[in-house]
Amino acid sequence: MKILLINPWICDVAAYDFWMKPLGILYVGAILERLGVEVELIDLTDRFLPELRIYLNKKGIRLRETPFGSGKFYSEEIEKPAFLSAIPRRFKRYGLPVEIVNRLLLRKLKDADAVFMTSGMTYWYWGIIETMKVLRAHTNIPVVLGGIYVNLIKEHAEKTAKESGINHVVKGHGIDAVSEALRFIGRNDLLVKSGSFDWFEDTSPAYHLYEHPLPYAVLLASIGCNFRCTYCSTPRLWGGLRSKSVDSVIRDLEKVLELGVETVAFYDDAFLLHPQLNELLERLRRYRDRVNFMLPNGIHARFLDSSIARALKEAGFRLVYLGLETSGRLQKTTGGKVTDEEFCRAVKLLKEAGFERKELKAYIMINLPGQTKEDVENAVKLCEKLDIGYSLNEYTPIPGTPDWVKLQQKGDLPKNVDPLLLNNSILPYWWKKGMDVQTIESLKARKSLSTKR
Ligand code: SF4
Repeated sequence: MKILLINPWICDVAAYDFWMKPLGILYVGAILERLGVEVELIDLTDRFLPELRIYLNKKGIRLRETPFGSGKFYSEEIEKPAFLSAIPRRFKRYGLPVEIVNRLLLRKLKDADAVFMTSGMTYWYWGIIETMKVLRAHTNIPVVLGGIYVNLIKEHAEKTAKESGINHVVKGHGIDAVSEALRFIGRNDLLVKSGSFDWFEDTSPAYHLYEHPLPYAVLLASIGCNFRCTYCSTPRLWGGLRSKSVDSVIRDLEKVLELGVETVAFYDDAFLLHPQLNELLERLRRYRDRVNFMLPNGIHARFLDSSIARALKEAGFRLVYLGLETSGRLQKTTGGKVTDEEFCRAVKLLKEAGFERKELKAYIMINLPGQTKEDVENAVKLCEKLDIGYSLNEYTPIPGTPDWVKLQQKGDLPKNVDPLLLNNSILPYWWKKGMDVQTIESLKARKSLSTKR
């Protein structure tokens, strides 16, 4: 029995590999291997595939990348869906060139009984359609789709599945999703062993399926979050916080180090809420000479104290993002995860612990429902005053979040709006209830001025 796992292309007007790895499908790979299934992986967004490097060299293409492994994807412009024709942005397919994907499929589909495909952002579903076009030219075996897109908007995913030749869509995570996928392909017999382990605690993401060295890996010490921010899909996807034991996190770390990884990004939604945080940081410290740790997903400023700040520094964290998102009254009405005061305090503690300007950054959102230009400017000024960097991110109304529900109820977002139109880079071109493109561009221009200082 062999399953081919696929992480599809990203189709978007912009994309950047900010330590992005398809962790969900890598856990699925680990679960399947534990059930005795042979597994192969094609990650269509893999920037480190040797064949891609050869292809780019031949064409004289050099893509910018950072010393810690993040960097630009290779991309090709593709025809826009008709409903995007009025949007003055180029629509691209990010990831491997088609000819390389065809070669990989020829090789890896051999003897495969089914394909399990994952999905990411809801507005990336066009990447699934593009991937299926290429895949279906090679095979008629069953294709099962899971992942974030399915979990957030299953009905839409079912429509995409029907139109693109996917046989079944599966909601849920981990062993539940794998069980349903296996039942669909008629391999219930494999589920006998599925009750004997806890997929998150007892398995490590199957990075070995890449079959070539990776400069970085993404790991999780926890999933979910105990907050309920109105713009965020994490509570709906995962519910409350669930942590992994320190021993298991270290086991996951050891495994990626064996594969030659030098940078590890923890993409937890609530890293500082890990119940054994002190022990975890103490254990990570023992690896500081072998690995650069990153926290790119915005930590909770409120839960930082001086000893945690010092422990992060001593453990060798090279980049810490803090979630600020906005300033003013919206901080409270969107969920109350941070105040300006807590944010200032956290930055000061991190600086006292030895973090430099280039190692600290804040996330600030633009275009949250009800947010004014001044709210964004005040958040920016706060970062400038504290002398740290910041990343301005345009808001996306994510289906099913409290903000999205409210916008729909008020009639501020059309019913059945296509997920692609909700893409944060596309939304300002047509959505009249938020900031217009000029306002957003002017806020971003301020950022480029400040980064030139
Ligand atoms: S604290 Fe962060 S992860 Fe948790 S709900 Fe809010 S935005 Fe989402």
